[in-house]
This record gives sequence, structure tokens and C-alpha cells, in this order.
Amino acid sequence: MTAYSHLLAPLDLGHVTLENRVLMGSMHTGLEETKDWNRVAEFYATRARGGVGLMVTGGMAPNPEGGVFPGAAGLYTEQDIENHRQVTDRVHDAGGRIAMQILHAGRYAYSPDCVGPSPIKSPISPFPPKELDEDGIEKQIADIATAAARAREAGYDGVEVMGSEGYFLNQFLVAHTNKRTDRWGGSYENRMRLPLEVLRRVRAAVGEDFIVIYRLSMIDLVPEGSTFDEVVQLAQEVEKAGASIINTGIGWHEARVPTIATSVPRAAFTWVTKKLMGKVGIPVITSNRINTPEVAEQVLAEGCADMVSMARPFLADPDFVRKAADGRSDTIAPCIACNQACLDHTFSGKISSCLINPRACYETELAITPTERPKSIGVVGAGPAGLAAAMTAAERGHAVTLFDRDDRIGGQLNMAREIPGKEEFHGLVEWFETMVGELGITLRLGQTATADDLDGFDEVIIATGVVPRDPGIPGQDGPNVLSYIDVLRGKAKVGRRVAIVGAGGIGFDVAEFLVHEGESPTENLADWKEEWGVADPSEARGGLAPGGPKPDAPARQVTLLQRKAERPGKRLGKTTGWIHRAALRMKNVEMMSGVNYERIDGTGLHISHGEARENPALIEADTIVLCAGQLSERSLADALEARGLSPHVIGGADVAAELDAKRAIDQGTRLAAIL
Ligand code: FAD
Ligand code: NAP
Ligand code: SF4
Repeated sequence: MTAYSHLLAPLDLGHVTLENRVLMGSMHTGLEETKDWNRVAEFYATRARGGVGLMVTGGMAPNPEGGVFPGAAGLYTEQDIENHRQVTDRVHDAGGRIAMQILHAGRYAYSPDCVGPSPIKSPISPFPPKELDEDGIEKQIADIATAAARAREAGYDGVEVMGSEGYFLNQFLVAHTNKRTDRWGGSYENRMRLPLEVLRRVRAAVGEDFIVIYRLSMIDLVPEGSTFDEVVQLAQEVEKAGASIINTGIGWHEARVPTIATSVPRAAFTWVTKKLMGKVGIPVITSNRINTPEVAEQVLAEGCADMVSMARPFLADPDFVRKAADGRSDTIAPCIACNQACLDHTFSGKISSCLINPRACYETELAITPTERPKSIGVVGAGPAGLAAAMTAAERGHAVTLFDRDDRIGGQLNMAREIPGKEEFHGLVEWFETMVGELGITLRLGQTATADDLDGFDEVIIATGVVPRDPGIPGQDGPNVLSYIDVLRGKAKVGRRVAIVGAGGIGFDVAEFLVHEGESPTENLADWKEEWGVADPSEARGGLAPGGPKPDAPARQVTLLQRKAERPGKRLGKTTGWIHRAALRMKNVEMMSGVNYERIDGTGLHISHGEARENPALIEADTIVLCAGQLSERSLADALEARGLSPHVIGGADVAAELDAKRAIDQGTRLAAIL
């Protein structure tokens, strides 16, 4: 018997049996819009080979007005059907199963042509939707049913009808967005009419032997959201209308509660799905922040659901299921829920990928193939850049020696993992440790590499990272001034009143570190729910606690400063910046921009404002922490170049500006792929 007896158990859907209880949830990768169908097919086929029970594609628009943006992929023409058939054929050849998600964005469509139940603009879009009349509603239903029929024609095993996350069907369900007085609005029976009619027509269009998943919003996390009685009522009607499976949706896109970011506890919402178990006769899928086979197994063993949906974990590692089944879950590249290369890309109009796995969505372009000429390769620096290069080179058959002056691998990730809400970085460093061993990399820890140490290697890779930038503030040599390294390595005592110089990613993280005390809310679901105001939807409509968020008092009084006149945190992650800003606001962190640092003395940090250095002020502080950015650590690279050698320089050692682990890993992987 396998360690994951629930996860790997088959699921009988009547006309078809899924091999296991793992669904790869829908992700908009942007691949379909490239129109490179070989690339799309390879993305899904790679994951099918990895053993996932069923995959759902990114959302396909049923018609132009329902597209998330103008030109969003859909199944409109015969040619579209032919294109999608390449995907389904390749997946079936690989032994997998795939359903197509039909996504009508309603008022979330980024287009002046968007439509909805009522002309109420969403807070995340500039366009108010046109209110649909009776004919307009009939057209949407017919178009969704037609898209389902075309999906079947294109060879899909099923469709997922997107009814959650605040999209079109969800907008009809909730009074907040549906102010209609006709048969499509008013009572809950009327508001349910559209999703149910859609499902009946979809089922009629595809026949009985076809999977129809309905993604149902089980906790809306918006004002006037559904109660759980309404969720149960809808689920029972959804079953009668012909759905084969109900999938869980958590929170609308406009919700002000994080639902999938790394600071959300693992499996944070499975208790919501569990409330539906036993209320319907069809299988129920749970979702959100499930990223290891252990967590997924536990969720199923506790009876929270019949199946588990994971999406981003399949970007990080397409072989997730196969490795779990082989008892090698420690080798699964972990999704750390950072959103940096997936959702942040999607929302910036770029192709998705993965911070940990740069091959995600680049399967046809970035090949890691065995080398024909094995070399000896010396890599200096076991941060993410050096680790990615060392692992890729070793995977290809090169003999790799990896040096780090620290007594452990990870580089700056060892500071990131200390931040409350970034606990996933522990798993990432542990995975790197496992893989360094697996790949037979020779590790030289506690050794500051010199140019002499690198004599004799066929290739040398310098990944020595960065040094903190010196902001040159008069008085910064005083005993009350620390660098972020002193603080995060736990070596220094920090006072109760703190001024932080620099509001970049590290300044924000240091502020988060300093306002917390004791257990991180990410490790304690009850605390986290209280902090963000999440309640049981049986007790509070939409799952929003009546008293709102109730964070613990801040452990310190923190002021976060920057010189630029722009809003602090503006450059943080596209989909996560608001969470960092909201989290610090909840802890009363004062954020100041447009300041000049005049001097530091025993009373604190003296500043002035604007180019004219006006309005002098004192930020009273016991400790001043410098987070003023970073510069490349190039001393070793320079020493080698002075000897006439040409080392490969990557990561922060190459370019420190706007460096993050995503770029470091991508650069290391791509370099080693061609050595
Ligand atoms: P580093 O990680 O700095 O590694 C360089 C390594 O080289 C070090 O281990 C060092 O000991 C070693 N070294 C240097 N010289 C020598 C020598 N001569 N001999 C031997 N060894 C040597 N990035 C993200 O993408 N997402 C985040 O959420 C995130 N959060 C962060 C939070 C904090 C608090 C910090 C500090 C950083 C964070 N980062 C984050 C940034 C990310 O960690 C860095 O961008 C990344 O680590 C840079 O990788 P690197 O390999 O170039 O350098
Ligand atoms: P950063 O994001 O570039 O921020 C540096 C900060 O220092 C800015 O606020 C900058 O603002 C200030 N600064 C720059 N020069 C200064 C000077 N001479 N004197 C005083 N202040 C100065 O760099 P970082 O915070 O050190 O982060 C390093 C990298 O790690 C970043 O690229 C970041 O992306 C990455 N990181 C990412 C995350 C994440 O969650 N994704 C988290 C942490 C770190 P002003 O110039 O306006 O003063
Ligand atoms: Fe997960 Fe981050 Fe990769 Fe996205 S980029 S799949 S969140 S690890």
C-alpha cells in the first residue's frame, strides 16, 4: 500500500475512471494566445506524462464579449477546434485526461464591450458592464453551450464551467452585483437561474458520457456574498442540472483577503469544502494552497473532499504525482506560492512560468539534455543562481563542485525564510539540499573560494551574489544602526521604535519581521483567519467576519522610508504587493516617501522632504535598519578576469538591480543548459 492511499485512489465517474484524485487546476498561462499549438500541447503533455489524474485548461472564452481581455483565446472557429485537437491528442497519447475550462469574465472582462447582470463596474476594472437584456442572456447561454460542444469535438474529456471567483455566473448569483428585478434577479432562486440554465444546456450539448465540472464559489469573501445555505442549495441544483463534479472556488478576484499567496496557510480553505461533503451525491474537489502530497493526502484522509485541485504545483514540477507514487516526494520541486513567475506574469501580459522551474511553459525551447562532453565545473556561491546552475549542469552529466563560504546552502534564501509569511522558503532550501545530494554535486561549504581554488576546472561559474549598498548617511556608524543582514541573521538586538531606510522588497520584509512576535499567523490558521477577518459563511454572509480584520498588536513601532516620491511598495509583486501593503498597514507601520536622510544620532533618524530639503523632522527611533538595496559581489570574478580567465558570472554577481530568485534561477539554468 502506498503512503498516499487516498490521493492515489482511482475515482469512478461512471463513464470513466480517473487514475487518481489529483486535478491540475485551471491556469491562464498565455500559451494559447501565442498560437504556437505545439508549445501548448507540449505543456499539457508533459504534465500528463507526470501522472496527474485530470487537467483543466486555462479559461477559454465562449464569445468575444466574455473574454478576459480583447483577443483572449476561445473556441470560435473550425480552425480553433483543429488547434485544440493537437493538445487533446498529445495528452491522450501521453495517457492523460484533459477538460477545457469555459470562462466568461462578465464585468471582469478588460474591455468596453463587457457585459453583466447590472451596470456596476468592478473595483478591478475600468469598464462598467452593459446590462444584458433577455436576448443578451440567451446569447450568453447559447454561446457557453456551443463552446462545450466544440470542446467535445476538439477531443476534450470534459469541460469546467467557471462559476466562481467573481466571474460572470458568480455575478448573477450575488446581490452585490445583481440588481435585476426580472426573472434573473431578486430572489436567490432567480439569481441561480443563469448558472443552472447554463449547466442544463451544456449537459444537453455534450451528452451523458462527458465530464462536466462546475466551479462553485463556496466562500465569496465580498460584501453580500452567499451564505453557506445558499452554497448548499446551489450545489444540489448544480448536481440536478447535470454536473459530474463540483470544484471549489475561494474568494472573488476583488476580495481584500489573500487566498493563494504564500502567506496564506497551507490548505487554508479545505474546511469550507468539507462543509459541503455529504450534501451532494457527486464528487467534490477542494483547492487553494495545497502544495505537497502530504498535505493533499491529509486533506482527503480528513474527509474534506473527494479530490484535490493543485495548479501552480504543476508549474513547479510536472512530475508531482509520479514522484509521489514512487515514494520520492522529497524530490518534488515545491511551489512556494510566490506568484512571481506565474500570476504576476499573467497579470502583466507575459507568458507564465515558474520561479523554481524556468522550463514551465518553455518546454519546447529550454531543453536540458545529457551532455556529449562531460566537463568539470566549479560553481562559487550556493544561492539560487549557483544552485540552479550546479543542478542543471550535474543533471546533464557534468562533474560539479559547488563552493559556499557559509556553512549551509541557500544564500539569501536563508534570510527570506525567516520572514513571517515566507515559511515556504524552508521547503525550497530543503529541496535544494536533497537535489544537491541526489545529483552527486561535490559540496564545499565553509570555504571562501579564491582564484587559486578554481584552477583546473574546465568551466567556472561565479554566483557570489551581492553586498548591501552603503547609503552613506552621516552617523550610520553608530551603535543604533543595523543592516538587514544583522537583523535577519538574528545576531542583533532591535529596539521597540524602528526606522527602516529603504522600502524595497527587503525593507518590506524586514518591517514584517519586526512587527511580528511569536508564532507566524501563516502557521496558525485560526490566527490567520482572525487577522484577515475570515469567518464561517454559515455564520457570516460571504465569509467576512462582521468586525473585520483583527490583527494582533504590532510588536514594534515601525516607520518605513524611501526617497522616491512614489507610493511605497509600488514595485512589489503585481498580485501580492497589495497584501504586503495591507499587512503592514494593519500593524500601523507608517510609510513615508519623498524623504532625504540628513543624519542619524542617538535620538533617531533626521529627515527632510523634497528636492529643496524642506520640513526637517526627526523619526524618533531606538534602532535604524538599513535596507538601501544591493550591489554585485564581483571581487572573485574580477580576480579571475585579472588573470585573463573568462568565468561565467550569474545572479546578483552579474546584475544586482532588480535581482530576485526568479532571475537568478532562470539565468543559472539557462547557462548550464548550454555548457
Ligand atoms: P545569493 O543568494 O546572495 O547567494 C550568493 C552566495 O555566494 C552566498 O551564499 C554567499 O555566501 C556565497 N559567496 C559569496 N562569495 C563567495 C566566495 N568567494 N566563496 C564562496 N561563497 C561565496 N527573491 C525572490 O525572488 N522572492 C522573494 O520573496 C525574496 N525574498 C527575499 C527576502 C529577503 C529578506 C532577502 C534578503 C532576499 C529576498 N529575495 C527574494 C532575493 C533573493 O533571495 C536573491 O535575489 C537571490 O538569493 C540572489 O541569488 P544569488 O544566487 O545571485 O545570490
Ligand atoms: P530594492 O527593491 O532595489 O530596494 C532598495 C531600496 O533602497 C529602495 O526603497 C530604494 O528607494 C532605497 N535606496 C536605494 N539606494 C539608496 C541609497 N543610496 N540610500 C538610501 N536608500 C536607497 O532592493 P532590496 O529591497 O534590497 O531587495 C533586493 C532584491 O530582492 C530586490 O530586487 C527584490 O526584488 C528582491 N526581493 C524580492 C522580494 C519579493 O517578495 N519578491 C522580497 C525581498 C526582496 P529610494 O531610492 O527611493 O530611497
Ligand atoms: Fe509556485 Fe512561485 Fe512557481 Fe508560481 S512562480 S508556480 S507561485 S513557485
